[in-house]
Amino acid sequence: MDVIFNCPHCDQELAVDAAGAGTEIECPSCSEKIVIPAPGATGTRKESSPSLPTSGEVHPINPIASSAAAKVELHLKVPVRKEPTESLIEKPPKPLDAAAKESDRVLKVKTIRRIDCVEVGHDHYDEQVAKFIQKIGEEHIVEFIPVNYSYLDIGTQKQLNDFGVMIVYKG
Ligand SMILES: [Zn+2]
Repeated sequence: MDVIFNCPHCDQELAVDAAGAGTEIECPSCSEKIVIPAPGATGTRKESSPSLPTSGEVHPINPIASSAAAKVELHLKVPVRKEPTESLIEKPPKPLDAAAKESDRVLKVKTIRRIDCVEVGHDHYDEQVAKFIQKIGEEHIVEFIPVNYSYLDIGTQKQLNDFGVMIVYKG
């Protein structure tokens, strides 16, 4: 059974197995020392959901996630039987603000057609693609999708086939 309570320092909602009651832990949100209250104590709520982890896990309910659609739960291990109490909580791998910044980036798509890169007989297609990759940063590219298309050539009045690339990236 989990006992749910709010950190007395930063009000972060925390859920921890009732077996950890009375244990001093470091709040994963504000790093202040807090003591896990006994189930039924003032300010706690019982969690009846059977899907929650049952042994020694503290999972803060992310204040960003609870207001947004994307719900990211941090699972922090609390080895309740081990000493010393100072290191009971493993730090989350990423600070919350950094994680939020990364998620601020949204998927975008840029399509570069070869025909749009041709100027007076000179083909700047490769150059344009390379420039674009440099601009958005290689690490933000998700996928390159080759595209084929046909267009009406005004000079010859013929339907010509050409190619380009669709770049999916985070920006
Ligand atoms: Zn706190």
